[in-house]
Amino acid sequence: MDFSGHELQAAGGSVPDGLAVEVTASTWRMRGTDHSPPRCAALTGKVGERAACGIYEWRPNPCRELEPASDACERARARHGLSPLAPRML
Ligand code: SF4
Repeated sequence: MDFSGHELQAAGGSVPDGLAVEVTASTWRMRGTDHSPPRCAALTGKVGERAACGIYEWRPNPCRELEPASDACERARARHGLSPLAPRML
């Protein structure tokens, strides 16, 4: 997910500049999130076992807005072969 360059430390924000890559003149994304398979450069640990955001307090807004068990969260979990957090109502 892309975020505004205003969120970078160089622009007075909190996201460490070296962990982000420029996408357009005004938008950036976390380094590694567009790799295949994707892995954010700020992620520590092993997905599915024990993982954490290494810049949790300084993460960009799209990361702050992603709610646990939201559709986007569940899709991301599924891509990594993880079970859903929330039981599905059928
Ligand atoms: S929450 Fe942290 S590890 Fe996850 S994508 Fe955002 S910056 Fe990267």
